[in-house]
Amino acid sequence: MDKELVKNIVNCSRCGLCMDVCPVYKAKKTETSVSRGKFLQLFGLIKKHLKYDKRIKYNLDLCLNCGKCQKACPSNIDAVKIFAEIKNEFESPFEKFLNSSLVFKFKIFCLKILYKFKYPVGRSYYKKIKKSDSGLKIAHFNGCATKSINNKFEIPYKFSKENFDCCGLPFYIKGRFDIYEKYKKRNLEKFKKFDKIVFDCATCFDTVLGYENIDKDKIVYFTDFYKNKKMRAIKPFKVTFHKPCHLNAEKFLEIEEILSNIEGVEYSRLNKFDDCCGFGGDFFTRHIRTATILSVQKIKNVINLGSDVVLTTCPTCLWSLKYGIKFEGAKIKAFDLADFLHNFVEIIDD
Ligand code: SF4
Ligand code: SF4
Repeated sequence: MDKELVKNIVNCSRCGLCMDVCPVYKAKKTETSVSRGKFLQLFGLIKKHLKYDKRIKYNLDLCLNCGKCQKACPSNIDAVKIFAEIKNEFESPFEKFLNSSLVFKFKIFCLKILYKFKYPVGRSYYKKIKKSDSGLKIAHFNGCATKSINNKFEIPYKFSKENFDCCGLPFYIKGRFDIYEKYKKRNLEKFKKFDKIVFDCATCFDTVLGYENIDKDKIVYFTDFYKNKKMRAIKPFKVTFHKPCHLNAEKFLEIEEILSNIEGVEYSRLNKFDDCCGFGGDFFTRHIRTATILSVQKIKNVINLGSDVVLTTCPTCLWSLKYGIKFEGAKIKAFDLADFLHNFVEIIDD
């Protein structure tokens, strides 16, 4: 094992602060599902008291890659990176194939079919919106899930369509750093053609902001185009918002402000708004029970608040919300925030 990796693993002081924030631990209540327990198992590997077997692999996979443990950790240990490095180190040729871009594209294709028939996102009833010219060359970052599921993104400004690659996160967390680097390089090359790249998926936005040497001024979140606009909903809504794990606090507060200022929208902050929805990319396909516990809890919080609409800004979070609503038989609607703004809100003053 690489010296730096060993140093990071043994850095864990076993304080247990990660237990308060880890969504998987909240659902499973087992020491092996939280960073502290995972590091203890990895420490066993370093000391050669344990072997990298199915059980350790399974426990490392029990992670939503939300990054919450790192934020809570006094030693700032980047658990997501460590788990990815371990997966990379012990990956068999078959796992390498399973984590290839070919298989990934197939998974996205299946996701698209499932989404279309079971949890349609509703972008088909788009209204035409008046678009201003910002004078800038803007492109929409249509990453993998966005491209397949939410492919009719709009903002009230003119922008170009460009075929970007996946942001790379799905490969990074699996330890396929080679594919992550390839996609990152291709995206950075395409970014050069534009003044601004607009993102709607919170996870892609966060990942791209993490590229080394990225020109951060170029990377904008779609909600920036709605700031300081006077808006009115086409009918009254009681709205709340699920904060995706990768949406930063600054953007979350801006979204709250936008929603609070729309005439006809009664916005209320969701209890535990920051708790993970449980779907974490394709986590739910392997750990459906854990994902369901978290998804249902999220919807119960929406029901208790009395909102009739729950919004979010990540395609898999949206899927989780729709899944939780169906599971609970709740009379709530879930929308992507961009869809909600386009379909139910009018800009009344520029
Ligand atoms: S918060 Fe950090 S140092 Fe504390 S137990 Fe968790 S991973 Fe270890
Ligand atoms: S990244 Fe999230 S799910 Fe994974 S161990 Fe840390 S807190 Fe738990």
